[in-house]
Amino acid sequence: MQCPGADSLFLRANGNFVCWDDAGSDKVLQPYDIEKDMSRIFSDGGPCALIAKKLAGNILPFPETCPGCYCLSLRGSPCFNSRVLNVMQVEPSSRCTLECKACATPEERERLQ
Ligand code: SF4
Ligand code: SF4
Repeated sequence: MQCPGADSLFLRANGNFVCWDDAGSDKVLQPYDIEKDMSRIFSDGGPCALIAKKLAGNILPFPETCPGCYCLSLRGSPCFNSRVLNVMQVEPSSRCTLECKACATPEERERLQ
């Protein structure tokens, strides 16, 4: 199994790193903490490395969330390298009002403030 949660990062506008996208965007991997080294998210032994380890063992990283997440692929194997980040997705604001169908609902945006 593989998914982008193993080799890519999603930083939400509230400062939390979450689990890539879709259902995973509600799964906080590392909450914002000004006292904390936020780069730990992508270190050996950090949350992304643990996701990769579980996927490689055919174990769902988050059994309550992953089955409903479109990011999950049952084929292939994850690739984690703490020196190589595949994609970094940054949400600059949660105040967009365009309401595209694939994006967060107005209620979700309010909750993220
Ligand atoms: S499949 Fe699971 S680990 Fe991967 S992005 Fe979705 S919630 Fe996160
Ligand atoms: S509602 Fe549309 S334009 Fe606004 S952030 Fe979402 S996808 Fe982008």
